[in-house]
Amino acid sequence: MLKTSLKKHFGFENFRPNQEEIINSVLEGKDTVAIMPTGGGKSICFQLPALVLDGLTIVVSPLIALMKDQVDSLKANGIKAAFLNSTLDNSEMQDLMEQIAAKELKLLYIAPESFEYIENILKTEKISLIAVDEAHCISSWGHDFRPAYTKLGFLKQQLPDTPIMALTATADKATRADIADQLNLLEPNIFISSFNRPNLYLEVKPGQDRIKHIQSFINERPNTSGIVYCLSRKSTEDLAQKLTKAGINAEAYHAGLSADKRSDVQEKFINDDVPIICATIAFGMGIDKSNVRWVIHYNLPKNIEGYYQEIGRAGRDGVESDTLLFYSYSDVIQLRKFAENSSNEEFQLAKLERMQQFAESLNCRRKALLSYFGEGLSKDCGNCDNCRKPPKLFDGTIIAQKALSAVYRLQQEEPLNNLIDFLRGSSNAYIQSKGYNTLKTYGVGADLSWKDWRHYVIQLLNQGFLEIAFHDGNKILLGALANNVLYEKQKVVLANIVDTLPFEKVKKEKRTKKPAKKGDDSLFEILRQLRMTIAKEEKVPPYIIFNDATLKEMVVEKPTYDEAFLAIDGVGQAKLDKYGNAFMDAIMQYQNDKTKKKSNTYNETWDLYQKGKTVEEIAAIRELGITTVFSHISKLYLDGKPIELKKYLKEGNLLKVKHAKVELNEPSGLKPYFEFFEGEIPYEQIRVALTILEKES
Ligand code: ADP
Ligand code: ZN
Repeated sequence: MLKTSLKKHFGFENFRPNQEEIINSVLEGKDTVAIMPTGGGKSICFQLPALVLDGLTIVVSPLIALMKDQVDSLKANGIKAAFLNSTLDNSEMQDLMEQIAAKELKLLYIAPESFEYIENILKTEKISLIAVDEAHCISSWGHDFRPAYTKLGFLKQQLPDTPIMALTATADKATRADIADQLNLLEPNIFISSFNRPNLYLEVKPGQDRIKHIQSFINERPNTSGIVYCLSRKSTEDLAQKLTKAGINAEAYHAGLSADKRSDVQEKFINDDVPIICATIAFGMGIDKSNVRWVIHYNLPKNIEGYYQEIGRAGRDGVESDTLLFYSYSDVIQLRKFAENSSNEEFQLAKLERMQQFAESLNCRRKALLSYFGEGLSKDCGNCDNCRKPPKLFDGTIIAQKALSAVYRLQQEEPLNNLIDFLRGSSNAYIQSKGYNTLKTYGVGADLSWKDWRHYVIQLLNQGFLEIAFHDGNKILLGALANNVLYEKQKVVLANIVDTLPFEKVKKEKRTKKPAKKGDDSLFEILRQLRMTIAKEEKVPPYIIFNDATLKEMVVEKPTYDEAFLAIDGVGQAKLDKYGNAFMDAIMQYQNDKTKKKSNTYNETWDLYQKGKTVEEIAAIRELGITTVFSHISKLYLDGKPIELKKYLKEGNLLKVKHAKVELNEPSGLKPYFEFFEGEIPYEQIRVALTILEKES
C-alpha cells in the first residue's frame, strides 16, 4: 500500500534501504530518529507520511535554499506544500495563513526562528507530524550549530500526541544523544543506515600537474556538473580563471564574496547555467542538486569527515559519479600549520593523520573510509582506484638503503627537496655551497626521476623508515625502523606509482569493465536539453523536473505511451500528466530521425548499385562490411527494386538453404543456418538465399 503511494506521488518503484521502516515507525505514531548519508533519501521519509496522514506536517529546515528546493520538488509532483521564512512579505504571509486555514496544504516548511508566526496554527490545526531536518544543527558538538534549534524542545510538550521525527546525516554518538534529548523524544525508534555510497568512484592522485589533470578530467565529461574544492579563496579564483581561459564554463565561490554574488553563483549552479564551481568548503551545505556528477579535491581536506561530506555531494540520484582527490605533501605541511596553535591541536593533527593515511592507502579505499566510520565492508569494493588498478609492489630494499643512507650522510638536516637533489647528484648552488657533492652517497640515485624519488621517499615516511620534523623546517629524519634497513638488511616493499598522467587510460579501462547500461548518449542530450527548457519556463532547477537517473532510464526504455512512461522510476502521475507528452514526443522524434537515417543508408547503396558498382566496390566506397551491403541489397530487393539477386548466389546454395529451413523449422536469425552448414556457406550467401525464398513465398 505504501509502495503504491510512493509510485503515485513520487514516481519511485521501490524504497531505498530503511525508508519503509522509518515511514512505518512514524505512521505508528512513534518518535523517530533517522540517520542516513547524504543522498540516502531522507525527504521521502517525512513527505510520504505527510500525504498518508490526515492534517498538516511541519518540517523544520535550517536554510531558505533547502526549503525552496524541496517545496519546488513537491509541487512538481503535484503536492501542496509551502515554506515560511523571513523572505515572505505581509501579503504572502496572509495567503499562506489562508491556505492553512482552508486545509489546502499538506506540508509546511519553516525555519526554526519562525515559530512565533504559527503559534496559532499549532493550537488550532491538526498537526500530523513534525519533521526536524538537518537535526544535527541542534547540537553544539557539530559544526552547523544553530541556536534556534535548541528551542524546539517545546514542540513535544505542546503537542504530546504528534510524532516527531529527526533526520540527519551526522552519525556520531554525542550528536545523536543530543538530538533525542533536546527534542524531548519519547523512546524514539532509531534507524541508522549504511554510510556506503557505492555509486561514488573513489580516486586519489599525486598533486602534480593538477590543472592539466583537471582540464582533461572535465573534457572527458562534457555537459556534466561538478565541484572542485580548494583550500584557499585565492586558489578558487585562480583555478576558475584558468578553466575559463581553457574554454570551460566555471566560477569561483568562497566566503569572501558578497552575499549577492554568492547566491547568484549558487543559483546558476543549481540551474545548470554554470556547471562547474571552484569553491572553498563554504560551498555545499544547502545544495540538494542531485545531478552533481563529480567532486574534485584540489587540496587534501583537513579530516575524513569533511572529505566524506564533500564527496557526498556527488551522485545523490544514485547514478555513477566520480570523486578525485589530489594529495601532496605540501598540503600536509600547510594543514599542519593551520592545526598547530589551535586550541585542540592534538585532536586536529590526529584527524589529519587519518586523512593522510587514507590518501596514501594501497588497499581498498572504501573499506578504509567505512572502517573510519565504524562500519565494516566484507569485500573489496571494486569501485576505487586501488581496487581497479592495484598498485604493483616490488622489492624496494636498495632504493630504501640509498635514501636512508643519504639522510644519514646529510646528518638529518635537509628537507625532502634537498634530499632528492642530493640523491640524484644535482649540482645546484646549494648542494655546492654545502659541499654535499663531496659526500659519499651523492648521486647514487641518479637512475630515478625526481618524481619517482618523491613517491618512494613518501612511502618510506609512511612505513616508518623515515620521519619528518614538522616543527623543524620539515627536515627528513631517520625513522624508528631505519636501523633495520641500514644494518639488518630488512627487506622493504614499495609500490610502483602507475599514474603519472594516464588517468584517461585508467578511466577507459574502468568504463569497459563496468556493466554500464547501454544507452544512447545523444538521446540523453536531447532529453537533457528538453528538461533544461522546461526548467527555465517553470523557473525551477532542472533536476526537479526529472533527475539524471530518470532520464537515463528513459534513454534505455524509450517509452512512447503513457503506461510505459509511468513505469519509469521517478515518474509519478503528476509528472506523467505535466511532462509526459513533451518527453515522449522527443523520444518519438528521435526514433523517427533514426529510421530516416537508416532509409538514407539504403538509398545510398541503391544509388551506387544503379551506377553499376559491384558489392565489393560499394562496401569499399561506403566503408561498410560486405555482409552489411548484402543486407541492404536484400532489403532493397524485398522492397521491389529491380535487382537480380540470384546472380550473387553460388550454384546449389538456394536449394541447400531451402532444405535447412524446413529441417531447422524456420529459425530466426542466420546463425542456426551457419552452424547447420558447419561454416561452409558464408553468412551473406545465407542472407541472399533466405531473401529469395521469402520473396517467393
Ligand atoms: P537526502 O536528503 O538524504 O540527501 P534526498 O531526500 O534529497 O536525500 O534524496 C536524494 C535523491 O534520491 C533525490 O534525487 C531523490 O529523488 C532520490 N530518491 C529518494 N528516494 C528514492 C527512491 N525510493 N527511489 C529512487 N530515488 C529516490
Ligand atoms: Zn575499493
